Amino acid sequence: MMRSPLAPPTRLLLGPGPSPVDPAVLDALGKPVLGHLDPEFIRIMDETSHRLRQVFRTRNPLTFPVSGTGSAGMETALVNVLEPGDRIVIGVNGVFGARMADAAGRAGADVTIVEAAWGDPVNPEELGQAVRSVKPKAVGLVQAETSTGAASPVELVRREIGPSPLLIVDSVTGLGGMALEVDKWGIDVCFSGTQKCLSVPPGLAPITFSPRAAQTVADRKTPVQSWYLDVSMLRRYWEEGEGARAYHHTAPISMVYGLWEGLRLVLDEGLEERWARHREAGDFLQAELTDMGFKLFARRGYRLPQLTSVRLPKGVDDGLRGRLLNDFDIEIGGGLGEVAGKVWRIGLMGFGAKKSNVIRLVQSLRALI
Ligand code: PLP
Repeated sequence: MMRSPLAPPTRLLLGPGPSPVDPAVLDALGKPVLGHLDPEFIRIMDETSHRLRQVFRTRNPLTFPVSGTGSAGMETALVNVLEPGDRIVIGVNGVFGARMADAAGRAGADVTIVEAAWGDPVNPEELGQAVRSVKPKAVGLVQAETSTGAASPVELVRREIGPSPLLIVDSVTGLGGMALEVDKWGIDVCFSGTQKCLSVPPGLAPITFSPRAAQTVADRKTPVQSWYLDVSMLRRYWEEGEGARAYHHTAPISMVYGLWEGLRLVLDEGLEERWARHREAGDFLQAELTDMGFKLFARRGYRLPQLTSVRLPKGVDDGLRGRLLNDFDIEIGGGLGEVAGKVWRIGLMGFGAKKSNVIRLVQSLRALI
């Protein structure tokens, strides 16, 4: 008996990720697989790191994609910087900040949480106060909290916490969709994921370490708890200009091709142009949904353009998302954690951040409600 070939439906991905993938990236994923130490592949790795530096707006030599999704980036940041007993202050205003605190605790750190209400940004002054009393090695926060649609002001946070603590930023949903300036804002470790505003499938976690963060890793007294994510070994594979590359693990070749191509598209569009496109599409969506009676969940002034969260009006059931998927081939996201069943999360990320997609969604919703 012949089995039929894989044939997933074509959906319009307007959820919190993955986002629609540009056809050029899908083509890149199908290119011939090279050996992971082939000089041609190493050239592609170096170009990928170079492009990542441009997109992160950094000169950090230690910039590469971790093999794994955004969570692997988060774990890489925390387990390399933190040793058992180190203190860290973490701003928590949603699911992903809470995850960061959980992962830091598992790395043996002494975690101080500075909480903000869901839908609000983290409060830079409160983080500053916590730093003055705790004197931590590092401060962590999420730039774009995907569970609520709220942005946090990273630049202000650095100003409030002073120059001393390492600043670790989750930009899984930020990178490529909103302003992010790793060097200018004094970020020491920043990580992301490929499946949001970069519009590449999930599977890699771009990360960058400032020279002093890289030195902190080099000066550790204890080995990194994770063998797979130990940057002191990974850097010998990913860093340029050091002669022969040391085998650590087999890079996911096709995903690196996809990221290489996705970054080419980002840089060809222009970073600032891309941020503006996200802003324009997000503003349009937020105005349309408000017109339809939805209440925007995140605080005004801190609303992410690439991820809009709305409270469901009376008479609109969360189950409608299933009909949107089945009848209209459109995916949107439900609420996470404490707002499960109460909000929807609509992503306009990367290739998906277009007014035409907003119109298609709004028309479909109007047909259903
Ligand atoms: N951090 C944020 C802000 C996220 O939105 C996500 C995923 O949605 C993650 C971390 C985890 O990334 P992943 O699901 O790719 O492991």
